[in-house]
Amino acid sequence: MENNLSDLLQKSIPLDQLDLIHRVADTASELGFPIYVVGGFVRDLLLGHPSLDFDLVVEGNAITLARALAQKYGGSVTAHEKFITAKWFLDDKHSFIDLISARSEIYKHPAALPTVKMGRISDDLHRRDFTINTLAIRLDGDHFAELRDELGGMEDLQHHLVRVLHPRSFIDDPTRMFRAIRYEQRYRFKIAKETLTLIFEARELMKELSPQRIRHELDLILDEPNADSMLSRLDNLGLLKPIYPSLRWDKASQTRFESATDFPLGFSSSGLSNIRDLRWLLWLMTLSNKEIASLNKRLHFTAPLLKSLLASSELHSDVPAFSKLKPSQCVERFDQFPLQAIYAVLRAAPRGKLKQALEKYLMEWRHIKPRTTGNDLKKLGIEPGPKYQTILRTLRAAWLDGEVKNASEEKNLLKKILD
Ligand code: ATP
Ligand code: MG
Repeated sequence: MENNLSDLLQKSIPLDQLDLIHRVADTASELGFPIYVVGGFVRDLLLGHPSLDFDLVVEGNAITLARALAQKYGGSVTAHEKFITAKWFLDDKHSFIDLISARSEIYKHPAALPTVKMGRISDDLHRRDFTINTLAIRLDGDHFAELRDELGGMEDLQHHLVRVLHPRSFIDDPTRMFRAIRYEQRYRFKIAKETLTLIFEARELMKELSPQRIRHELDLILDEPNADSMLSRLDNLGLLKPIYPSLRWDKASQTRFESATDFPLGFSSSGLSNIRDLRWLLWLMTLSNKEIASLNKRLHFTAPLLKSLLASSELHSDVPAFSKLKPSQCVERFDQFPLQAIYAVLRAAPRGKLKQALEKYLMEWRHIKPRTTGNDLKKLGIEPGPKYQTILRTLRAAWLDGEVKNASEEKNLLKKILD
């Protein structure tokens, strides 16, 4: 095993990173601190998709280690005294290594944040969420590539099981319910039977979590490629309802999530929305403005996302109105909405007047402006004021509605307006 692991490590980590890890390990060794790479990195390495997200845990003081590294190799250190963690920044300032002191945690109240104190590596592994995250590989000296598997992590990894370490796990930290589903759906694993029972028993504790913590977990889910199966699983296990009663995942939400089709050739969506916000919008646009406002009390959306959510819900619910509007009237409404809301509703809307209007707006209409500018009006001797807005808007509307097709027609219209 050790030989295999050593090979696997050498093969999976880029040379420069490997060199860095050896430096860290040697320095830890000199200080008499055993050091391990733990958690997600080990899990993903053994699953065959190595990441570069090293969680380095020292049995000893991580700040002392970071300072020793900086003294030996240069760079700088930022320390977090309360959690006894440190970042060692290399000279180039861009790369850094995170160092964590092995710690134990005590949960004073359900769903509250834990009290932390320094501990042994074993304590550190016992405070973790699932067995598949408790695997550690030792890195210092002769111990290089020794696997530490105290809690049956390897067996669960091989059997594709997500399993908590003890029955109080979700009571201590209900966010682990989200995490269980994230790992289960990301790797197409199964949540172990007893663990699933514990989730059922802990469901209502979702209500105790702060808005920030719930939103953060949902953000992480929405960033995942399999976000839809995660949301579906959350709903099936009854975990969405305790967050907010009308928070659901249904067939229609699924369809909206998959609505990547029907785009005109050459249409680029980049910059219109990030994938996380786009998914929030596609998920929630069917809620009413009132529901979004109450949901916001539970989730504390960012201000731009809240604005877009309200806009997309308004647009989505107003489909019939658009069949009667002229292009200029559509534009007047759309101009008030964030582009990412327009883009999300465009993706989700069924074929029809609204979809056409949104598409035209994104591709053409929003760029259409009259040739005449404020400067031109000034040259014509018109007193600057709110009148300018009105005149320019009228000219733009004429272009949009096809009443003006070239510069001379615009000039004629301007003359008419001024008369
Ligand atoms: P990901 O690939 O999603 O980043 P990860 O395993 O690296 O997975 P992180 O959220 O980066 O997960 O956390 C790092 C490690 O810290 C985890 O492997 C896990 O052992 C531990 N951990 C994180 N959150 C919790 C929690 N809520 N309760 C217990 N342990 C946790
Ligand atoms: Mg991670």
